Amino acid sequence: MKQLYEGKAKIVYEGAPNEVIIRFKDDATAGNGAKKASIAGKGVLNNRITTLLFSYLAKHGIQTHLLEQIDERDIRCQKTQVIPLEVIVRNIAAGSMVRRYGAKRGMVFAQPIVEYSYKNDALGDPLLNNDHIVALGLATREELEYIRGQALRINDLLISRFAKIGMTLVDFKLEFGKNAEGTLLLVDELSPDNCRLWDESQTSYDKDRFREDSGDLIAGYETIYERLKETV
Ligand code: UDP
Repeated sequence: MKQLYEGKAKIVYEGAPNEVIIRFKDDATAGNGAKKASIAGKGVLNNRITTLLFSYLAKHGIQTHLLEQIDERDIRCQKTQVIPLEVIVRNIAAGSMVRRYGAKRGMVFAQPIVEYSYKNDALGDPLLNNDHIVALGLATREELEYIRGQALRINDLLISRFAKIGMTLVDFKLEFGKNAEGTLLLVDELSPDNCRLWDESQTSYDKDRFREDSGDLIAGYETIYERLKETV
């Protein structure tokens, strides 16, 4: 397979016309690549969790790039032009909400926050407001409005899905891309690599275990996967 792109956690290969094959790696990074490790089994779990959650979202009317899971490592997806935005939805304060704004970890927001960062490692993924995004030509106002609506709908769907497995969805990151027809689709992945998930005692089951050396990452991801698999 011809490699098109290698990112920090996935490799994108050329597929059939207008399709790509995405392979989940075991590599983990944090702090914009400052901390690195290979964690055996992470890619397989993220592939399974992404497939499960994207299928769940699709069943509820969200258009995603996922076509099918090929095997333990690879998924087949629609090819898109990815919009270089990290769309972050926050329900509870953690991570940069605490670091950047001094919010108390665990503070529950009355309304979810949707924020955007520029997906650009060299610039350190700076925060963007709507005017920046339009001025830089990254998306139009109409596209942003659609993306925000989708992000909030996805948040509602995921909150209720994770509630069924006893987990609280603290925050998560989404990416969107445009397929050959110009339709905006949810792309990338949805896994504990890009969500924060807490149990009732605010224990993390996500990548914070790696970021903060606070526990066995695979055990956390496995718990999420096993519980998702056993529920609908
Ligand atoms: N996130 C991500 N990729 C990034 C930055 C953030 O997937 O490059 C996710 C992260 O896992 C968390 C949410 O987005 O679920 C909010 O992250 P935050 O802005 O708090 O940044 P962090 O604390 O991870 O630096």
